[in-house]
Amino acid sequence: MRRAIVISVLLVALVLYLVFLNGETTAFRLAPNLVLHWNTGALVGGAFMLGVVVAAAVAGMQAGVRAWSAWRSGRRARRALRVEEWEESGTQLLWNGDLARGRALLHKVWQRRPDDPRAALMLAASFRATGELHRARGVLYDAAAQYHTDPDVLLALAEVHREAGELGPRVEVLERLRALYPRSPQALRALRDAYIDAGRWNAAAQVQEALIPLLPDPEVAAREQERLFCLRYQVALQLPDPQARLQALENLASGRRVPAPVYVALGDELAAAHRLADASAAWERGLKQHPRSVFVHRLLHTATDTKHRERLRALLGKFRDEVEPDAVHLWVAETWVAEQNAENAARELEAVQVPASFAPDYDRLWAEVHRLRGQVEQALQSFARACREQPLYRCQQCEHQAADWSGVCPKCHGWDTLRARVEIGRV
Ligand SMILES: [Zn+2]
Repeated sequence: MRRAIVISVLLVALVLYLVFLNGETTAFRLAPNLVLHWNTGALVGGAFMLGVVVAAAVAGMQAGVRAWSAWRSGRRARRALRVEEWEESGTQLLWNGDLARGRALLHKVWQRRPDDPRAALMLAASFRATGELHRARGVLYDAAAQYHTDPDVLLALAEVHREAGELGPRVEVLERLRALYPRSPQALRALRDAYIDAGRWNAAAQVQEALIPLLPDPEVAAREQERLFCLRYQVALQLPDPQARLQALENLASGRRVPAPVYVALGDELAAAHRLADASAAWERGLKQHPRSVFVHRLLHTATDTKHRERLRALLGKFRDEVEPDAVHLWVAETWVAEQNAENAARELEAVQVPASFAPDYDRLWAEVHRLRGQVEQALQSFARACREQPLYRCQQCEHQAADWSGVCPKCHGWDTLRARVEIGRV
């Protein structure tokens, strides 16, 4: 400030000095008819002063604008910092169980930071955590309208629909996500799972086909390829025309490594078409590759004479080293019971090492042996023991129990995960 005063005083002194030195008058034309007669020194000094004043005014204005924008960006930064602090303490409050205050703070954060969906997502997650799905859905609906291309918001909304069991809206949201991000494995996986839950196997298989080339890990890709096979199997089973169904299953069975459910379904389809010899051949092929109860029971069911059962026994005999030996004893005993040969069946049952693991199949077969021997009392006791538990299949993935075998677990949709009690020694 002092420097400005000194400079001003010096300038004024300079002008006065010029006025003193140049006392004569000069004619100065502002327009053709407008002539001013001024002191020469005052004219030159005045022009110089005017220049200085204009330069000072421009510099002052620039400094003012700079100061104004610095103040504004400072204020913005302070506000952003405050919103961040709210976000942090809102999250902390939620983790500490103070839901009302935590949610109120996050609401404020969402309002103050409308271009960022993080607060909305946290809010929705807090409602999901307390099971208030309708409120989580409300928040995410608003967020989805606001950030209509944000993948996290759409995924969270689909997840809430999944928890609420709303299949239609879930598929709709995920289809939107896929349209926005057609090469995102996350979007494709989520949509595939939704189609599977909706039983839309064909659509699920198509999404799976799009997903596999996007997976960088060959091991993961191979697992997903197997899953694709499972989906194609489901598509085949759903075909309404029996001939088309048979054709689709035969195509699936022509591969190199064919999973057990394909052989089961192919045999079932052939049996339904009264092609029993072909059905048995399909199940035998299945049994050779996958020693499972499901094949043994189907083969026994269609075996019409001793020759068939002998053939089955010979086949089962080959598994004694591969499979749990007790399981083979039970399967062979089953063939003898079917042949009404109590003594041979009893010999197999006596060879079982851990009978408790195979109840009630073990008890049921003993009951049959006693019945064939005419030992009514013992037969009844064994039947009673066998009836305490249902012979069940168990999913190896989700522990779901089912009375009937199926290629895909009805609960977790696991592919070929159901195993009989005899195969795993327990259910
Ligand atoms: Zn399961």
